[in-house]
Amino acid sequence: TSPVNDALTLEFNIMPYGVEQYLLIVRDITQLKQLEQIRKDFVANVSHELRTPLTVLQGYLEVMDDEHLPDKAMWKKAHNVMLDQTKRMDALVQQLLTLSRIEASARVQFDAEVDVPAMLLQLEQEAQTVNRDKQHTLVFDIDPTLKVTGVTEELRSAFSNLVINAIKYTQEGGYIQVSWQRQHVKAVFSVNDNGPGIAPQHVKRLTERFYRVDEARARNTGGTGLGLAIVKHVLSRHNSRLMIFSEPGKGSSFSFTLPPELVLGNTKKRSRPL
Ligand code: ADP
Repeated sequence: TSPVNDALTLEFNIMPYGVEQYLLIVRDITQLKQLEQIRKDFVANVSHELRTPLTVLQGYLEVMDDEHLPDKAMWKKAHNVMLDQTKRMDALVQQLLTLSRIEASARVQFDAEVDVPAMLLQLEQEAQTVNRDKQHTLVFDIDPTLKVTGVTEELRSAFSNLVINAIKYTQEGGYIQVSWQRQHVKAVFSVNDNGPGIAPQHVKRLTERFYRVDEARARNTGGTGLGLAIVKHVLSRHNSRLMIFSEPGKGSSFSFTLPPELVLGNTKKRSRPL
């Protein structure tokens, strides 16, 4: 194998061909190599993500085995940390399963009707619970008539990831606006926050699996680094893509548009009567 340049990997094979003749077969294996690298990175990332909480659990279990066990307060602390860590592993495994389910099924049946307004109403209630500590102002601006066709659970996961992220990453007392509105024959979902914002070099990498802007902060918030990768896959299945506008220090806007063919209630243009 001899790389012609950094980006291209070629495989050369020489085979006998007739009398004193040889056949040179050159194969471009760049994509295969890249896929192999992605797979290796993925396995390394998953192992790392699972190992961190496991190390913490192991540490606490070892302390508990000590004959001179510390006082009750210490027990309580150990219990809370262990619970947090197991929750984190659970969230990671859940999101990995979601991601692999979405990736594995190339074509799925769309549900005839996804009642997005009802879904967002439920999400608003869940968001209020998550928001309890943060005391953000949450504003949901929902068109109650705007329903679509699509994969219900996948869309729920996309809406939820974007809303929960805005709550998680915006500093206390922030302002978050969630909107689901018709724009001509399309449906537009957006989440705007006045949180920390994201620098441009990070924005373009946010939908990569396990990519986090600030490792430590994201870990503290219980993030797995898979949320936006899931959103990206869900949207590509719904002929849409995630748009991110963000300004460090000012806030972020995550939005997507569902195309007319997925929006219910769009009447086909009728030719004018004579
Ligand atoms: P995580 O599970 O870490 O939240 P995501 O894939 O959902 O993973 O998000 C990737 C990263 O994008 C986060 O770790 C965070 O750094 C950044 N991010 C996502 N949403 C926001 C937001 N609304 N404001 C600021 N940063 C955000």
